[in-house]
Amino acid sequence: MNILVVNCGSSSLKYQLIEMEKQEVVAKGLAERIGIEGSRVEHKATGKEKLVVEEALEDHKKALEIVLNSLVDDEYGVIDSLDQIDAVGHRVVHGGEDFAKSTLIDDQVMKVLEANVELAPLHNPPNIMGIEACKELMEDTPMVAVFDTAFHQTMPAVNYIYALPYEYYEKYKIRRFGFHGTSHQYVTERAADMLGKDLDEVNLITCHLGNGSSITSVKGGKSYDTSIGFTPLEGLPMGTRTGNMDPAIVPFIMEKENLSPSQVSNLMNKESGVLGISGVSSDFRDLEAAAEEGNDRAQLALDIFEASIRKFIGAFLTEMDHCDGIVFTAGVGENSITTRERVIEGLASLGLKIDKEKNDMRGKEAIVSAEDSSIKILVIPTNEELKIAQETVRLTQN
Ligand code: ADP
Repeated sequence: MNILVVNCGSSSLKYQLIEMEKQEVVAKGLAERIGIEGSRVEHKATGKEKLVVEEALEDHKKALEIVLNSLVDDEYGVIDSLDQIDAVGHRVVHGGEDFAKSTLIDDQVMKVLEANVELAPLHNPPNIMGIEACKELMEDTPMVAVFDTAFHQTMPAVNYIYALPYEYYEKYKIRRFGFHGTSHQYVTERAADMLGKDLDEVNLITCHLGNGSSITSVKGGKSYDTSIGFTPLEGLPMGTRTGNMDPAIVPFIMEKENLSPSQVSNLMNKESGVLGISGVSSDFRDLEAAAEEGNDRAQLALDIFEASIRKFIGAFLTEMDHCDGIVFTAGVGENSITTRERVIEGLASLGLKIDKEKNDMRGKEAIVSAEDSSIKILVIPTNEELKIAQETVRLTQN
């Protein structure tokens, strides 16, 4: 059984074709600069040469057409015909309160997705374009939407209502939604497995640390609280996003700098975070290298990022009677040995202890806590595509 997983951004389309019996990626690639000059598709099937198509991609449909042609290509492809794609799984960023689970896509679902555009104006429209392109090019293939927000729909009101007049929740659905849900869910399931626990018995704190970052408190295998909020701006400082700060700063800067709502939103989303603090880069590898060379502001950005992770871990520990594991995942969590080490060393007062030798690796599943650590520390490479494919199989097989 082959599942095509599609993840559309405003000018990109990432895909993987996953063979589900062996859970193997048989082809994957990326179309980029869709609708912009210099667009291209990179496609790579396992065991074959990479194919690069440099061609104008006026929209997501054109990009998908080239992807599908590449998948069935005699030389670079892996399947004989598109009939060998059994179903398509789409990543959708925002499901609002309407989707607590992944769902089979039909006309009614499309209407609800459209209605949720207001909640994620940057992310949901390209997700919808990707679905529509697939519907046109693969008419009879079933499709599933897997939402970044769905895993967090189990949060209780105490963790999702903001201290604003309640009518704003009722009128505009202003509440915490949580993001990176597919990743938090995937690592939760893997962690339960690695710890030999039933999913509904496992309590975890999962730290998804990438370009965008969020931390989730998982109780009984379900999301109970999460750091990120109504939009992906809340919580930890990220590559270019502020994370938490005094909300009064926003009108203050708007007045001082004479900024419009969209300008201040751009400032907080694109020019802040560790990039804003350091003035060096939003990329954690660049920051680590600059800090190593003695750049104080790069070091300060890393210090603030790590301190913020510790504060969330500390706060989330108060929400559970015991914690079975703290999980590190995503680009930084999987690969940055020093981030893991420094975060955990700063939590020594809670009895947390890392085993430096075990922690001395990147991008592999491992338990890296010392034997006498109060809580197990796990590194789990995330695999959102596989989770989307699994959800797609689950929903199309029933
Ligand atoms: P995205 O949110 O874009 O999916 P990723 O989860 O891929 O992001 O994470 C990207 C981040 O991971 C980048 O800031 C990158 O520098 C960081 N990263 C990747 N490898 C390393 C490494 N070896 N050490 C430190 N940071 C790393």
